[in-house]
Amino acid sequence: MMYWYILMVAILGLVTFLFIKVSRPAGPCLRVLMYHKVSGNGNKDFLTVTADQLSMQWKYLKTEGYSPILFSELVKYVKEGTPLPPRPVLLTFDDGYKDNFEVMYPILQHLGMKANIFLVPAYLQQQQQKADGTYLDLHELSRMNPSLVEYGLHSYDHQSYKVLSPADVGEDIRKTAGWLQSQGIPFQPCLAFPYGAYPKKNPVKLKSFMDILDQSGVVLAFRIGNRLNAMPLKKPLLLQRLDIRGDASFEDFVKLVKRGKAAF
Ligand SMILES: [Zn+2]
Repeated sequence: MMYWYILMVAILGLVTFLFIKVSRPAGPCLRVLMYHKVSGNGNKDFLTVTADQLSMQWKYLKTEGYSPILFSELVKYVKEGTPLPPRPVLLTFDDGYKDNFEVMYPILQHLGMKANIFLVPAYLQQQQQKADGTYLDLHELSRMNPSLVEYGLHSYDHQSYKVLSPADVGEDIRKTAGWLQSQGIPFQPCLAFPYGAYPKKNPVKLKSFMDILDQSGVVLAFRIGNRLNAMPLKKPLLLQRLDIRGDASFEDFVKLVKRGKAAF
């Protein structure tokens, strides 16, 4: 009886060991962090980290020797093989909330970090029309130093790319890039899928979807996935991001950054 017990424990241990080995790439990794809102009044939820949480997380990254990078640095790495600094980390913000300028940007300057914001033209237009303080306005976009903050695409009006046909995705990317260009907003050929969604389960649609991204000039595209990306990057059009939630603890943040989504 005891024999069986020891055998079972040994097998379980081996399975756990192998799983961790498989789930965490052994070599260098690119970490991509996904944020949305940053609050200055202590409010937090799954989409919102507080200013204090952000400072603590970024100080941790600095202490651990992570190097924040810009989209353009990663584009050059993928296209030309230009080396990246050690332990590269891409800090990304989705949807272009106004607090990215008002709360995040001063913290970024203070700590010497770099960030990347995925913009949605319909949200920028909403701010232009309603001025309700939810999203960034064009003046704020132009005030962020381009050597510290870069912009990327996050669809025209936040429709799911899992629902749109590949041809419509191509049209959506063209329209998004066209609008940003018409407003003089500089951006990199980097795209985050709204809701992280893409036609994952339909191999035929996925193939044409990836072809459309490529033909549209997208160099880097981002899903969620909550895993680290082994380097060199095998799938620059399906990069995984770590979902940084304001309702998670600092310990959860450290675990996620260290090894991505844990299985247990
Ligand atoms: Zn979004």
